[in-house]
Parts: sequence; structure tokens; C-alpha cells
Amino acid sequence: MKPVIALVGRPNVGKSTLFNRLTKSRDAIVADFAGLTRDRHYGDGRLGSREFIVIDTGGFEPDSSTGIVREMAKQTRQAVAEADVVVFVTDVRLGLSAQDMEISRYLRQANKRVLLVVNKAEGMQESPLLAEFHELGLGEPMPVSAAHGQGIRSLVEAALDMVSEPEPEAGDEEAATQDRPVRLAVAGRPNVGKSTLINAWLGEERLIAFDMPGTTRDAIKVPLERDGQRFELIDTAGLRRKGKVFEAIEKFSVVKTLQAIADANVVVLMVDATQGVSEQDAHIAGYVLDSGRAVVVAINKWDAIDGYQRELLERSIETRLAFLRFAPVVHISALRRQGLGPLWKAIGDAYRSSVCKMPTPVLTRLVHEAAAHQAPKRAGLSRPKMRYAHQGGMNPPIIVIHGNALDGVSDAYRRFLEGRFREHFKLVGTPLRIEFKTSH
Ligand code: GDP
Ligand code: GDP
Repeated sequence: MKPVIALVGRPNVGKSTLFNRLTKSRDAIVADFAGLTRDRHYGDGRLGSREFIVIDTGGFEPDSSTGIVREMAKQTRQAVAEADVVVFVTDVRLGLSAQDMEISRYLRQANKRVLLVVNKAEGMQESPLLAEFHELGLGEPMPVSAAHGQGIRSLVEAALDMVSEPEPEAGDEEAATQDRPVRLAVAGRPNVGKSTLINAWLGEERLIAFDMPGTTRDAIKVPLERDGQRFELIDTAGLRRKGKVFEAIEKFSVVKTLQAIADANVVVLMVDATQGVSEQDAHIAGYVLDSGRAVVVAINKWDAIDGYQRELLERSIETRLAFLRFAPVVHISALRRQGLGPLWKAIGDAYRSSVCKMPTPVLTRLVHEAAAHQAPKRAGLSRPKMRYAHQGGMNPPIIVIHGNALDGVSDAYRRFLEGRFREHFKLVGTPLRIEFKTSH
């Protein structure tokens, strides 16, 4: 599971500036909590091969009558609860304040690992102004400048070092070759029917759910077997044990969803047919796409809409989820347990596609055939020439094409190649990445 870092501090100390530094901000998922001063933002960060999730919070809103801690925005408390490490952001230019003292008391009570950073410290690595932050009793203050990108790497290293090293997970390629269970996550907005689907699965006769004790860090994985294929269901809907069986309870957590997507081989992206495809659905879908996971779109509550609405829905899927065109779309009713067979089939197909083996001679032949059919356009002076191709990874499959002057190959041509590869290997439900390597 990716560790979670929450940015906490009073307003204007530079939390969102830091958030943007730490994340590829286009991945940010905004959880909308009506009535709060600022929404929580979630984003993905990476340092080398170490990945993490960052939560930005609106900050503590001061309230003179009751004190800020008691009036602390609920979202900030929630973010602290979800975090493995809290990065407490202060501002060297404003100096240490009473609010900072209150926040630090709260964080100590919350019993979280806290990294104290002093922001806006550009060019102030050794400044005596830093010394006063020792008073917070949270250890050595770490000077950074979010705006100028100073000290950020050390910050991330220190934060990640505070999280105990996760157990080494076998790589995806190993998963494919060693007959490990297929890790499956169900993602979607609250109330789309995730828990109902999981309960329907757990109640299916042809499905065997193993009895398994709870695991660490709240992450529950339920091993299942269906038609000889082993699965591991990753908790996104809030699975809980009830006696000898698991049941899904209604509890949506963005962090859990992001972690589960990152950890899965296949994601079932659930959409509520009665609600249509919303902005948030598209956000989650975009995140799944970026994660490279195989994906099946399950349109749930198909029982509850009429023919006209079905037509409208099909159209909104085509436009709003156009970037997931490779994903199979299955119509189901989790409540009536309809469409579950086709859903399992789609999941199986998507998984097999995502770990498909593509031999170098076949890939090389395919690129030559593609070039003979339609050569890549000349970009500048040199004509691109594809020489050979090999597979660079699985889940998602990556095809690396080697040749000359391939830097200028257009997106359109890349899509043309993708279409040919997909057709040949019958790939469904998995993104496919194509990389060009130019030798000069
Ligand atoms: P937040 O309310 O804690 O999220 O704070 P913001 O990220 O919105 O930043 C508040 C202000 O501080 C903005 O004007 C930023 O440009 C500025 N700021 C953020 N980081 C730095 C920094 O490292 N150095 C300086 N000088 N200003 C910064
Ligand atoms: P979750 O928040 O995504 O886990 O959603 P739930 O599984 O709790 O379902 C939310 C609501 O939708 C509940 O009232 C369910 O009974 C209802 N629901 C779930 N699946 C279906 C379905 O296939 N058809 C209909 N009509 N209602 C459904």
C-alpha cells in the first residue's frame, strides 16, 4: 500500500504550493465536501521508485471563542486520521504562532508521526529564525521552500523514512508468471453500489471466499476463487468481517480507493446508471487510466432505468469516458445479481490482456507491417524508421520500439500502431503503452 502523507498547517503557510511540488497535479482528485472552506485534495507523488499519496488540507480555521483545535475543520482531522505521516507546515516569515502551538498539541495527541517543516525558508538554511520552532517539541525543524523547490527532496525522504518499510511486494510480472491471485479493486463514487456488488459476489455459489484473519493497516484482502481462477478482493468499500463471513459496509474513503487502484491488477470502475457519468466518475476513471491498471466499466442499477435513459447513458459514456475506450462496458444489477457472469468474463479477459506476452519477433514483424501499410511522417529533416520492438513490461503492457528519428512520431501514428497491436493480441480492458527509443 502506498504511504499517505497529509499536509497540515494554518492557512497561507504554503501547503498548496507544497502539494503542487509533491504531486503530478494533473492526477489530483478533489473530494467535494460542501460547506467547507477548502476541499481536500489528493494527489500522487513519486521519489525514485517510491510512490506515495499526498493529501492537502484547507488548514485550521481560527475561531476566537472556542479555540482552533476544537473548531478544526473536520476534513483536516479526517486527513490526519488517514495519514501515515503528517507534514506539519509552518512559515518562517510569520514566525512561530499560538496557532502552531495548538496544532502541534493536537498532532501529539493524535499520536501520529509528524515531520515539522518550516516553509518560505529560501536561502535560510542556517538562519537563527529556525531555532524558535524547536519550541513545538516536534524535533528538528526542516527548512524548505515550496515556491523555490528547495529542500523538497529531503522532506520527502524524511517523510517516507518515517513510514515503516512496506513488505516487498512481488512485481506484476512475477504475479503473472507465478500464478498469484488476481488483485481486484472495485472503485466508484459513494452509493453506486460497490458494497452491494461485493456482497453479491460473496454470496455467489460458484465463488469460494476463504476465511482469513484481518491484516495490517486496515487493509483487508479477501481471497476468492471463481472457475479455478484465484482473486484477491482489495478493500475499497469498507469490507468488514462479520463472524465467519465478510460483508461490505458503506464507507467511502478516497485514500483507500487510490491505494486499492494502485495495488490492483484489475479495477472494476462502477457507474450508477440512474445518475449518469459525473465529473467525479471521470476523475476516478482518469486516475485509473494513469495508474495503468486493467479496467472494466460496470454500469450498475441497469434494472432501474428505462430504454430512453439507457440510450442517453450510452452516449454519455461514449463522450465522458472516451479515454477509456479500450475498457469493456458491462451492464449489471448488483441488487438483482444480474450480469455478474459477463462481468467476471470481462474481468478475466482484461487481466489476461494486461499480462499478455508479446514475443520480440512478433512485435518486430508487426511494426514492419505497420510501416509498410503506412510509414510514420517525416518530422523535420529525418525520416523516422522503426527497426524492431520488444515488450518492456506487463500490467500495463509496454511495447518499446527501437529505431531512428522516432522522437517526432505523432500521437496519431502512435494510436495507429496501438490499434494494430490491440487487434493482433486481442487486447481488451488494458491500457497499452508504446515507447520509442531512438538510436542516433
Ligand atoms: P496554504 O493556504 O497553506 O495552502 O498556502 P499557499 O500554498 O496558498 O501559499 C500562501 C502564499 O505563500 C502564496 O502567496 C504563496 O505564493 C506563498 N508561498 C508558498 N510557498 C512559499 C515559499 O516557499 N516561499 C515564499 N516566499 N512564499 C511562498
Ligand atoms: P456503495 O456506496 O457504492 O457501496 O453503494 P451501496 O452498495 O451501498 O448501494 C447504494 C444504494 O444503491 C443502496 O440503496 C443499494 O440497495 C442500491 N443499489 C445497489 N445496486 C443496485 C442495483 O443494481 N439496482 C438498484 N436499483 N439499486 C441498487
